[in-house]
Amino acid sequence: MKKIAILGSTGSIGTQTLEIVRENPDLKVTALAAGSNAALMEKQIREFMPQTAVMFEEKAAAELKVRVGDLPVRVLCGMDGLLELAAMEGYEVLVTAVVGMIGIRPTIAAIESGKTIALANKETLVTAGHLIMPLAEKHGVPILPVDSEHSAIFQSLNGEKRERVSRILLTASGGPFRGRNRQELASMTVEDALKHPNWSMGKKITVDSSTLVNKALEVMEACWLFGVGLDQIQVVVHPQSIIHSAVEYVDGAVIAQLGLPDMKLPIQYALFYPDRRPMQGKRLELCDIGTLTFERPDMETFRGLSLGMRAAREGGSMPTVFNAANEKAVALFLNRQIGFLSIAELIEGCMDHHRRIENPSLEEILQAEAETYEYLESIKA
Ligand code: NDP
Ligand code: MG
Repeated sequence: MKKIAILGSTGSIGTQTLEIVRENPDLKVTALAAGSNAALMEKQIREFMPQTAVMFEEKAAAELKVRVGDLPVRVLCGMDGLLELAAMEGYEVLVTAVVGMIGIRPTIAAIESGKTIALANKETLVTAGHLIMPLAEKHGVPILPVDSEHSAIFQSLNGEKRERVSRILLTASGGPFRGRNRQELASMTVEDALKHPNWSMGKKITVDSSTLVNKALEVMEACWLFGVGLDQIQVVVHPQSIIHSAVEYVDGAVIAQLGLPDMKLPIQYALFYPDRRPMQGKRLELCDIGTLTFERPDMETFRGLSLGMRAAREGGSMPTVFNAANEKAVALFLNRQIGFLSIAELIEGCMDHHRRIENPSLEEILQAEAETYEYLESIKA
């Protein structure tokens, strides 16, 4: 029996993780955490019977306590609750599927208590990779990728020597606005940005896919996960999302993982690694698909990608500023307070204003986040 806990159980990755639990009777859920959706959390508790449940928002935790008053589940709240869940005994794998930098501290607490991390929450590695990766090594804790591209890379590295890798080919669908020019982008609405051609995901990452900020975050995530330099990663736009990413070796061989776009595969692979479990579902029929195409990303139109590459090059606290500015700008865009192109403009404004710190501590990262939020508020109008 493998026992797991999920941070962000009510979200897109969280609910798909629970589908895998449903299909695999040797997985057991020990703890669940979410932000505010007490109604869905109640349903999940009744079905999966965890020992502990956390709602980040106090009001939601109070509501949940009433809803599950008849059950033997402990209900916690806030960051204290997330940290207690991360460090508690009684489970082996923490699935980090919250959205945003809120995942950093619980991930650190879980590593320090020896938990394997199945990582979907890329913002944690982007901003604190220099703290997380050495900490995981120190505690002998694996960080297993859930992000589809990184899972594909991880699968393509299987059995090979890391020093024989020459490049990582990180694929990108290009998002719903691929091929558009800046003038067209200026009028794109929230509804347009949320229409992803291949994947159904949470709102924040769907907007990040439309700006290509998601790809920039994934480049940084890959650098940390696989210990490669920026110059070893090539972003390849591949609109069909069939090749989930690939690794080129020193002899020129390219090994890739292919499949229909479905997050359940990378989630399940992380949960059972190094085993590969059977999974039901539609299979990839290459002859039905016929054509796979590739192109270079348009870094001039999609400034989210070029700004992210700049943040990655500059390093230190700059990826935190890039990420925090994006989190805030995307929230404003989803709230219809700013236009689509303002997302990248605000990120750039925050990055230009920031005084970079080399090798920031956790406190400095959280401070850079808070300062970025504050500065962005002051320039957004
Ligand atoms: P969703 O928005 O669908 O879900 C986010 C989850 O986080 C919800 O359960 C939400 O709870 C919870 N949450 C939000 N704030 C807090 C908080 N302060 N404390 C505790 N829980 C909180 O996001 P996704 O599932 O799409 O994405 C999750 C992560 O996985 C992101 O980092 C994303 O980049 C990454 N990822 C996602 C993919 C996908 O296919 N969706 C693919 C690859 C990576 P509630 O709803 O109750 O407020
Ligand atoms: Mg991805």
